[in-house]
Amino acid sequence: MSKHPRGSSRWLAGWLVGASLLGACAAPEDSAQPGGEPQVDVAAEAADISVSLSVPKAALSAREDVMVTVTLRNNGSRAARLLKWHTPAEDVEEALFDVTVDGQAVEFLGPHYKRPAPTAGDYLTLAPGESLTRTVALSDFYDLSRTGSYRVSYAAELHGGAVAAFRSDAVELWVEGRESVLREAAAAPGSTVSLGAVTYSKCDSTQQATALQALNAASTMANDSVTYLNGTASGTPRYTTWFGAFSSSGWNTAKTHFVAIKDALDTKPITIDCGCKKTYYAYVYPAQPYKIYVCKAFWSAPLTGTDSKGGTLIHELSHFNAVAGTDDYVYGQSGAKSLAISNPTQALGNADNHEYFAENTPFLQ
Ligand SMILES: [Zn+2]
Repeated sequence: MSKHPRGSSRWLAGWLVGASLLGACAAPEDSAQPGGEPQVDVAAEAADISVSLSVPKAALSAREDVMVTVTLRNNGSRAARLLKWHTPAEDVEEALFDVTVDGQAVEFLGPHYKRPAPTAGDYLTLAPGESLTRTVALSDFYDLSRTGSYRVSYAAELHGGAVAAFRSDAVELWVEGRESVLREAAAAPGSTVSLGAVTYSKCDSTQQATALQALNAASTMANDSVTYLNGTASGTPRYTTWFGAFSSSGWNTAKTHFVAIKDALDTKPITIDCGCKKTYYAYVYPAQPYKIYVCKAFWSAPLTGTDSKGGTLIHELSHFNAVAGTDDYVYGQSGAKSLAISNPTQALGNADNHEYFAENTPFLQ
């Protein structure tokens, strides 16, 4: 798909809008890794980042990509370090934008990742006065199937939980509805193998064997979780640690989610794609069940236990809209525990909380 605006004779200089920083990105603070970065006080460092949006073209037919230009600028006197995944520096890896059409929220169709704690390479640095500008195709990542008046703002903090980031004022566009593009990774020529109910894409034979072990580990975790949640509903340590203050409706939501995860593992046509070279664990497109893309951290993770291969598959399965439709509000065990305390409803919608409940490490009754 084209990443460049086509036929955009109408550049709208007037669309540039200022914005202010509400917070900044923090990193999942647990699982510090050898060679990794300690958590950085990005909040202090990034205090003077502004975000502005502009659109090369403000009215688009269904055949035109909808492009938005983002500029992050360091207005401060100190260098600012930003987590790349809260910016469009290299790719759009999060729901970086708040998009509405005629006042209604528009769905982000891009990938949902599971990431390890960030390391030095996950940050970019903006010197004082320096700015970074990227133009991205909104139509590659959002559901623009409705014709109407769209409002777009930068809102990376919505997907950082406690974290937070930048927010810009809105730009407005008129967009003719187009077929939803559920981005399919470029279909590289090569190996697709189906063994039993599982299809492997771009996996060598060792990876296939390892992925199958991981699916079996995930299946054991899902079965255990369902059995547990079929027991007496109450504020047990395991439940309250990961899903917060007990309520019978919350318990039932968790049960429904794990029944759906177990059902996916038992009966759905799962595809494991080994083509990802990123440092993350894995990602999925929530509207594309049941294809799971596993990345570098997956292969070095233990089979079971915290942040394991099996747990990663639970995390990813929970993202599918057809399963539990979870989001990534926070990553990491301590973030997940804090979220359970501060916002049980979000904990029941957060993928890592499901993963840690299922991994149950350390063991809780
Ligand atoms: Zn995720």
